[in-house]
Amino acid sequence: MEAATNHDARIESASSFVPRPDLEVGSGKVVFDGEPRRVLMPELPEVENVRRGLEELLSLPRRLESIELRRKDIRYPISSKVHRAAGEKLLRIRRRGKYLLLDFESCTILSHLGMTGMWSPHPKDRHDHVVLHFSENLSVHYNDPRRFGCFEFVQSESDHPRLKNLGFEPWLSGEQRDQLIVRMKRSEQFVKVGIMDNKWLVGVGNIYASEALFRAQISPLKRLSRISRNQMHRLFDVIESLLEEAIVSGGTTFRDYRNARGEMGQFQNFLRVYDRAGEPCQNCGSKIRERALAGRSTYWCPKCQRS
Ligand SMILES: [Zn+2]
Repeated sequence: MEAATNHDARIESASSFVPRPDLEVGSGKVVFDGEPRRVLMPELPEVENVRRGLEELLSLPRRLESIELRRKDIRYPISSKVHRAAGEKLLRIRRRGKYLLLDFESCTILSHLGMTGMWSPHPKDRHDHVVLHFSENLSVHYNDPRRFGCFEFVQSESDHPRLKNLGFEPWLSGEQRDQLIVRMKRSEQFVKVGIMDNKWLVGVGNIYASEALFRAQISPLKRLSRISRNQMHRLFDVIESLLEEAIVSGGTTFRDYRNARGEMGQFQNFLRVYDRAGEPCQNCGSKIRERALAGRSTYWCPKCQRS
């Protein structure tokens, strides 16, 4: 990883947080201050913002008049069963991990934003693949240039291949915490990889995993079996508050991402270690390190996250 020398001027003038320029998603790479960087994808806070934005926009319940499919597939083929929702009221939109679940009177449709998907009240371009036409001439357009998202009829939630094995949402009850601690402490996995594992917890994506471990002052390289109960509780607390902050500020973001109201997230301004390899730690000044764990870039401060 090249050191981000072009940020130095900004870092010198910054106090606690260093404002970040927008990241841009497009054509397989992210452009960051003119340099190609990795692609970021919507994580739980972005999806939660899309959910809230859509609910507000549509003021549910609202009748769906028709579904316009402009392609037969996005990531997977779109089943014609989705048309069963036409004529029914959309009652609510739920979120499960990074999946949006649109609950109609007698059926549910799942939407996943993949890497570049978004729902918008406005038509955008030739990448508008699905249009939902609602009563009173309201419509929402699903746009996804890279087509990693999906739009699927859900026959049974408990049996759906993408839903059935999902672990807990990050806002854990006391009982869920106890269960997770017991299961996680039996694992020799790196803690960073563990908190991102959907079979335990959903919604802790790559950005938030590095940030949560930094805030909890736990090394991402520590094995789950070596993490104390107290550290585990601290980590769960931090994950909750971090995701809440990210939701409130609209999610972390890249130039192409918008919530359903067309607004951009601001949370990238608060990232302290993510994508900051070689930059000084905002707590202690040590250089932020980067290493791939399970194929995902991981950032940490070697001094603040020693334990
Ligand atoms: Zn530090």
